[in-house]
Amino acid sequence: MLLTLSTTHRPATDLGHLLHKNPSRLHSFDVSFGEAHVFYPEATESRCTAALLLDIDPVALVRGKHGRPDSGTLDQYVNDRPYVLSSFLSVALRNAFGTAMSGRSKERQQLADQPIPLEAQLSVISCRAGEGLIRELFEPLGYSVATVRHPLDEKFPEWGDGPYYSVTLVGVARVRDFLNHLFVLIPALDAEKHYWIGKDEVEKLLRKGEGWLAEHPHKETIAQRYLPRHRHLAREALARLAEEDNPDPDLTEQTHAREETKMEEPIRLWQQRMGSVLAVLRSAGAKRVLDLGCGEGRLLQALLEDKSLTEIVGMDVSYRSLEIAQRRLKLDRLPEKQRERIKLMQGSLMYRDKRLAGYDAATVVEVIEHLDPPRLAAFERVLFEAAHPKTVVVTTPNAEYNLKFDTLPAGQFRHKDHRFEWTRDQFQQWAQRISQQFGYNARFLPIGEEDAALGPPTQMGVFTL
Ligand code: SAH
Repeated sequence: MLLTLSTTHRPATDLGHLLHKNPSRLHSFDVSFGEAHVFYPEATESRCTAALLLDIDPVALVRGKHGRPDSGTLDQYVNDRPYVLSSFLSVALRNAFGTAMSGRSKERQQLADQPIPLEAQLSVISCRAGEGLIRELFEPLGYSVATVRHPLDEKFPEWGDGPYYSVTLVGVARVRDFLNHLFVLIPALDAEKHYWIGKDEVEKLLRKGEGWLAEHPHKETIAQRYLPRHRHLAREALARLAEEDNPDPDLTEQTHAREETKMEEPIRLWQQRMGSVLAVLRSAGAKRVLDLGCGEGRLLQALLEDKSLTEIVGMDVSYRSLEIAQRRLKLDRLPEKQRERIKLMQGSLMYRDKRLAGYDAATVVEVIEHLDPPRLAAFERVLFEAAHPKTVVVTTPNAEYNLKFDTLPAGQFRHKDHRFEWTRDQFQQWAQRISQQFGYNARFLPIGEEDAALGPPTQMGVFTL
């Protein structure tokens, strides 16, 4: 059975550094149920694929210490276990990519901390619960899912389809999250553990599920299927997940975002930003609004309170930020009517996304300076050409104003993650070019108190069709 992981992040061969496995070599190791191999069927600048192949020895399965304790005699030897991805895969994943799953990378730590485009092909999984479950487990984590169902026996089409699927998952995620999702969800789909389940399985589920499982809309199903036939363990796992669900929001708040806020706080800049953005949306008469790069949902909170808005969508590339937004907005406790007005989704502004088309307005608040300059062109087309909202509001720091922040050393950006900060002139030139290219009109408004020479702390461009 085979699992492949691919990326198109450039240079794609960095996948080798992220997985700690050199693309030019074959890596083989023994596992208690056979052998596992990691190799790279392709490794170029633009696309790199790592394959994990499990070669399971069905006889060793029965004779070895990890035999299936509850199976009948013939069933012990003749079954699908050697051919489908199951909890064996999780064991092999941990052996092959343990360091990557913990998020560490000797050579590319920054990249390991960053969501990148990823694709997985699961050669065959067994899922008696059907295709719906595959979608239910992976889609809320931001993956798009494609499946192909296989007939029970190709020679006897009249027998119909079997419970076997090939699955393709595509998404933008950190490698560690992707591997941890697979580690938990593949055995949960299969729902048949090959080894005796003990208490340490609860620990394993909680460890690998850290940061995402507590918020998963189908966490009950996942826990029950990951720990099949052990309801008390599933209950224990769920009780502990519920505790994790309510961490102190101050602790989870990302620290350097806080630093930026702290510096800007004396001038109450973010409140002024929200106020200015809301005023533009109101005067444009927008009803259906996208907040792109919504982060932890500060603007979304203000948008929700504006009753004239009928549909509010927050999108961000960071799953973690969306989790914080979801908690901040108390989405699971909102009355149904309110809940229907707002949706959070994971996605990247680097890729065309059909879900973004047809809105009255899009806000992009303090986001563009987080994008790599060579990739700005992709963002421009995704937003102004493909999504094409009637109004676009973009805010970004005015670099000239940085002189006024005493705590900011000259030449430094306001936030560790900023890739650039523009002067008023640079921003306006960019905005004029975009307007011409995509048929918008641009106007510029200051946010925050203006300095006579340096201008306002934040600059805002409003683009209208
Ligand atoms: N708009 C929010 C957050 C600003 S911080 C606010 O004003 O509070 C910048 C946000 O942009 C972060 O949440 C980051 O995850 C997001 N971001 C960065 N690159 C992105 C991309 N390619 N696609 C979508 N969001 C992105």
